[in-house]
Amino acid sequence: MKIFISADIEGVTGITDWPEADPTHPDYAEFRERMTAEVVAACEGALAAGASEILVKDAHWTGRNLLAERLPRQARLLRSWSGHPYGMVQGLDASFAAALFVGWHSGAWCGGNPLAHTLSSSRLMGVRVNGQWVSEFQLYAWAAALEGVPVVFVSGDAALCETVQAVDARIATVAVSRGMGAATLAEHPAVMRERIRSEVERCLRAPQRAAPAALPPRLEVQVVCKDARHAWRKAFYPGARLVDANTIGFDTEHSLELLRMLQFITRE
Ligand SMILES: [Zn+2]
Repeated sequence: MKIFISADIEGVTGITDWPEADPTHPDYAEFRERMTAEVVAACEGALAAGASEILVKDAHWTGRNLLAERLPRQARLLRSWSGHPYGMVQGLDASFAAALFVGWHSGAWCGGNPLAHTLSSSRLMGVRVNGQWVSEFQLYAWAAALEGVPVVFVSGDAALCETVQAVDARIATVAVSRGMGAATLAEHPAVMRERIRSEVERCLRAPQRAAPAALPPRLEVQVVCKDARHAWRKAFYPGARLVDANTIGFDTEHSLELLRMLQFITRE
């Protein structure tokens, strides 16, 4: 059984402010360790459930956060960004039995995490698809579905876990922190690691795992940029248009086209 893990940092236990997610800031070291420890816990749960191979995508900021020496030997690590439209789930293909998202966070326009954002905290106000603000979870659950792979486990802030449960209650979730404006409340990191390990094992052993996400037949996308100059420049993407000064509109019938467009719009 091959298992895919995508790891982010803004949804690890107790993370609260941007310096803790910033590789250039001294506060980052503690959370880099915690991100690694939570991924190791997920790997251990997967191995206990019978995983033979694990591919871990480091999906935060530079894509160079996880401490490779700490991962189990069965895990391979995909670091940095190639520009592939699958972004945070690059490397995922139909050979994987399931995908796990560890350390993920609420999307923009959700108050449940002080670090809530969608794709780019510096460039985007948010991404709306068919009238709803979407999180990275939703976007990359669609990417996984293009390969026929279900997302079966998500750990992150409580608001994200509630969103995930509303999409598909069969997806196992571990809420590691609860955001209240700029504050967070969390249990001890060791308690959360144990919960991640046991929930990953349980959901991978479960006879009724979550199914691949349903792909919408049509996607009406609005990307709201923080800077009107960025929106103007990026609205030249083929098929895109400027809806208002800060908003790029894009309609498609294929989720891959949405992911490809976002890959270009979030870059400089
Ligand atoms: Zn991140």
